[in-house]
Amino acid sequence: MIAYLERFVHENDTESRPDDDVVSTLCNALDLQGSIDCGAAADAAGKDFGGMHSVRPLAFVRPSGADDVARVVKAASRSPNLTVAARGNGHSINGQAMADRGLVLDMRSLDGEGRFHVSEIDGSCYADVSGGALWEDVLRRCLGLGLAPRSWTDYLSLTVGGTLSNAGVSGQAFRYGPQTSNVTELEVVTGKGETLICSESENPELFYGALGGLGQFGIITRARVLLQQAPDMVRWIRLVYSEFEDFTRDAEFLVTRPEKDSFDYVEGFVFSNNDNPLTGRPTVPLHPDQEFDPTRLPPTAGSVLYCLELALHYRNTDHPSTVDTAVHRLLARLGFVEQLEFQVDLSYMDFLLRVKRAEEDAKANGIWEDTPHPWLNLFVSKSHVSEFDRVVFKNLLKEGVGGPMLIYPLLRSKWDSRTSTVLPEGEIFYLVALLRFTAPQPKGPMVDKLVVQNKEIVQYCFTKGFDFKMYLPHYRSEEEWKRHFGNQWTRFVQRKANFDPMAILAPGQKIFSRIP
Ligand code: FAD
Repeated sequence: MIAYLERFVHENDTESRPDDDVVSTLCNALDLQGSIDCGAAADAAGKDFGGMHSVRPLAFVRPSGADDVARVVKAASRSPNLTVAARGNGHSINGQAMADRGLVLDMRSLDGEGRFHVSEIDGSCYADVSGGALWEDVLRRCLGLGLAPRSWTDYLSLTVGGTLSNAGVSGQAFRYGPQTSNVTELEVVTGKGETLICSESENPELFYGALGGLGQFGIITRARVLLQQAPDMVRWIRLVYSEFEDFTRDAEFLVTRPEKDSFDYVEGFVFSNNDNPLTGRPTVPLHPDQEFDPTRLPPTAGSVLYCLELALHYRNTDHPSTVDTAVHRLLARLGFVEQLEFQVDLSYMDFLLRVKRAEEDAKANGIWEDTPHPWLNLFVSKSHVSEFDRVVFKNLLKEGVGGPMLIYPLLRSKWDSRTSTVLPEGEIFYLVALLRFTAPQPKGPMVDKLVVQNKEIVQYCFTKGFDFKMYLPHYRSEEEWKRHFGNQWTRFVQRKANFDPMAILAPGQKIFSRIP
């Protein structure tokens, strides 16, 4: 069997494509319950949402369960150079889920209704979900039972294993921590091909290693996600600020209040003080009937403005006046620009699926699937965020990035330092997301230029000695990864040696090289 695999790697080197016979031989050799695509049929596994990198995998494997995943990893371990990449929904930006001439696992094929179970343990409810499940499917299944996970991402067509390998953050993370703080057990196939259950008390090093572990220590085939009772409805609110200091003061005030005394979701974004429909004032109103009246802005307003985005959960049985009173009481303490305030009510499901609607619009405009997305995500400490605003938002990016520029505070104490994610030092730090959308060439800006601009921003943060980390990191050299992990590098390397000593897993992260 290994001879076959090696021959395929060799064939790939010469650009030849394995034929159907070869595919079925490979399938038989691996003894899979699932299926395999090679050649052109595997091309999808060599692309991602970023649209800036592509490689040719040897095969795209659709495992039918953890046993198949383990078989593939074991087979790779018997070859001198094969690697294995778990591919969630391929929503990485920089090729992180790719395996050049390696085996890519389509984790989505692990999902199905039968792989969703809810249980009650010590008075709390949990859902056992497949590592390849999309969060939007987890949402639908949980809501059918009146339950929901507590911590989300903004966009839900991402897989459970994909976000848990990073962190998974949205406007609930200030209260409940990232998604990695909201799982209590994982089933993981390590780089040695062992299938292990892990939790705080069982194989804890693997459990915390895999959470935020960039896929380096194992493939998450199942996760146990903590649930809460789902609200029925959401009051979704946007408030406009002209001054960054007012915006951050209110955002930080809200994320540090006791639960009963704040909103259930706190995010924010920067937008241009102009009429651009993609990056300017028209992006703020929440309903077609609402209008942004720029005459309300103070004369001191500059070229960029800030929007605090909030949500309050409620139940169908709550009287409208109760909701109004609660919202009014909370807003009364905030210093946004008077009358630049927008509110709508919508179901909890529609609120959580809000980015799906933006996706449909972007698809219709040809800027979702057909153009590159040179996105940059950073965690910037509160101590340096004003300077970041002054240099990056107010100057470098004052015309916007063609899409949202998110900025909202998170609390370090809600993250578990035993996981592999690295954070800035300070208790309050901001997620900064430059979600660049580009018009199709030749109209759009050259993507290379945008990538260079991203690098300049990161370099600026380093040069200035900012307390910051890249989120969804992508570096190319060991030196850069060492700098990224800082004093956690030794632990990261040790975990690699324990769980994937031949560096078979997640080669697209470009942290470790395959050991023959
Ligand atoms: P992939 O891109 O397929 O994989 C990512 C990495 O995880 C790869 O290294 C892969 O090998 C590894 N991996 C995948 N599955 C597994 C598994 N089961 N076990 C182990 N390793 C695995 N992030 C946020 O935190 N908050 C957001 O609000 C948010 N919004 C987004 C919106 C959009 C439109 C996009 C494109 C991305 C967004 N992200 C967000 C980023 C997203 O969390 C990451 O890109 C994530 O990696 C994507 O998940 P995926 O399932 O597509 O994973």
